[in-house]
Amino acid sequence: NANDFWYPVNPAAVPWAEYFPALAASSSAAAVPMPPVEFVDIGCGYGSLLFELAKIYPHTPILGIEIREKVVQYVQQSTLALREEARKLTMAAAAKAAAAPNDVSAASAAAAAANAPTFENVWALKNNAMRFMPNFFAKEQLSKLFFCFADPHFKRKNHRKRIVSQALLAEYAYVMKPGGFAYVITDVADLMLWMVDHFSSSPLFERLPREALKADPTVPALIRTDEGLKVQGNNGNMYIAVFRKRLDPLAP
Ligand code: SAM
Repeated sequence: NANDFWYPVNPAAVPWAEYFPALAASSSAAAVPMPPVEFVDIGCGYGSLLFELAKIYPHTPILGIEIREKVVQYVQQSTLALREEARKLTMAAAAKAAAAPNDVSAASAAAAAANAPTFENVWALKNNAMRFMPNFFAKEQLSKLFFCFADPHFKRKNHRKRIVSQALLAEYAYVMKPGGFAYVITDVADLMLWMVDHFSSSPLFERLPREALKADPTVPALIRTDEGLKVQGNNGNMYIAVFRKRLDPLAP
């Protein structure tokens, strides 16, 4: 039911500064606009991928969208705790360096702490990613979109509930930059076929060859989502595919 979800009239109506207060503060101090969200994890679950991404991309605003209230609250609390821990470490290292101005190792530890991930660039929201993406994100805003271990909805009559369909792909593509990437990982072979079929038959996307995945630092993080870690623990198979939004969509 759409009424269960808060959604903004347009992306400018989203209180981004509440989600990313440190980014808002440093942007306003520098009198520049806040950097927009670039990566979105659809159905982020308990947030492990968000935190992995924040380590690889400590300055890129990253948002998880998750439909379950309790799960979102968990991710938000984890984020606040990680931010607090990072702040404490940075402050402690800076204080130590200040107390011993001639101590080279304290100075380099302080410098390392200052460059460590702050988790100020991640947040998660409760929402239905199948409904309101264009309300949250502007046309061609996002450079990466993640579909990790999406619910399989095995029964044929439930396939319409799958997070990827021809209509939804057009909506996801709308908010993606030309040349942006959509990452898919699942342990369900049948769902992988569905995803690959849909993305491949869309004029808006092209699949990246296996070789291209090796150079992408994001790919190894895909198996470190909560679900990915579970599958690894069971020695299960995982399938990965990455699609690029075409610079020039094919004629239909
Ligand atoms: N991506 C996480 C991972 O890899 O560990 C979670 C995978 S879990 C199997 C699928 C998640 O998608 C669940 O947390 C579920 O609540 C969420 N989800 C399902 N439909 C959704 C929707 N329409 N919008 C947002 N999240 C959704």
